Amino acid sequence: MALGEFALIDRFFRRPVQRAALGVGDDCALLRVRPGLQLAVSTDLLVEGRHFLSTVDPARLGHKALAVNLSDLAASGAEPLAFTLSLALPRADEAFLAPFAQGLLALADKHGIELVGGDTTAGPLTIGITVFGEVPPGEALLRSGARPGDALWVSGTLGDARLALEAFRGTVALAGEGFEQARRAMETPTPRVALGRALRGVASAAIDLSDGLLGDLGHVLARSGVGAELDEAALPRSPLLAAQPAALQRTCLLAGGDDYELLFSAPEAHESGVRAAGAAAGVALTRIGRVTAEPGLVVRDAQARALDLRGWRGFDHFATA
Ligand code: ADP
Ligand code: MG
Repeated sequence: MALGEFALIDRFFRRPVQRAALGVGDDCALLRVRPGLQLAVSTDLLVEGRHFLSTVDPARLGHKALAVNLSDLAASGAEPLAFTLSLALPRADEAFLAPFAQGLLALADKHGIELVGGDTTAGPLTIGITVFGEVPPGEALLRSGARPGDALWVSGTLGDARLALEAFRGTVALAGEGFEQARRAMETPTPRVALGRALRGVASAAIDLSDGLLGDLGHVLARSGVGAELDEAALPRSPLLAAQPAALQRTCLLAGGDDYELLFSAPEAHESGVRAAGAAAGVALTRIGRVTAEPGLVVRDAQARALDLRGWRGFDHFATA
């Protein structure tokens, strides 16, 4: 039997409120925001066929939809509070909704945040989440703070999600556990929330890597009015990616997308603070380059030759060429 809109919301998305003053079921949710803190807000829209494949496991899709939003709070150094969920669904399919809600709410529970509202309508499968977080005034990490001489750092490893995409496209053959590992990187990214928070007062600028290293670093450089030099050989990669042909590694590392690691800059004098933040958050951090006064981005290969970056760019949904 098909579920109605309100039965569907009650069944899958309404749970007792925890921190909020009012959750799902009224015209507005009411959040308790600690006095003196700023509210950090970010939103991300996921469309079937564009951001995820129709064959994805619904529990993983629920996880990823929230993870990519939490990643934005992480990049700002904000502490997550709550989120809303807007859903367009082709049909009220319980076989999809039950695991989707489970994957979504399991990640929410892990971060101690709650679903406080949303909207539900019939339509092509589309998932819009808005997250709310708290940050002390003046302490949010911005894209605009990188200064010449700062070191550039990245968390975790890069490129496995792109490797999975290439496997799905059939341009690379991955078997067994290798394929599963790459697929997990693509479908269940870990938002670096604890790291972002620990980098407050330590990093000078930060961004989360969603569209590929070159493109996302380009945003930081543009907003900060600086340039950068990257050391390609230093870019952290999994043993799985390191076993792939050099050209494929380069594509996955520099233009991968869907990494959801943090890229940040920090003054040299903050190196021990950076390492302490990584240790506190339990995340490996790698120094990959430095910020320069001259604008532009230079990537040097293992022989210190500058790569020709013409034709490389970050992902752009409206790019035509
Ligand atoms: P309104 O007509 O005032 O927009 P709705 O009838 O759309 O309210 O939604 C009823 C309640 O259910 C609201 O509190 C809304 O926030 C909540 N809600 C709707 N869809 C979702 C969803 N997908 N997840 C969580 N809460 C939802
Ligand atoms: Mg509504």
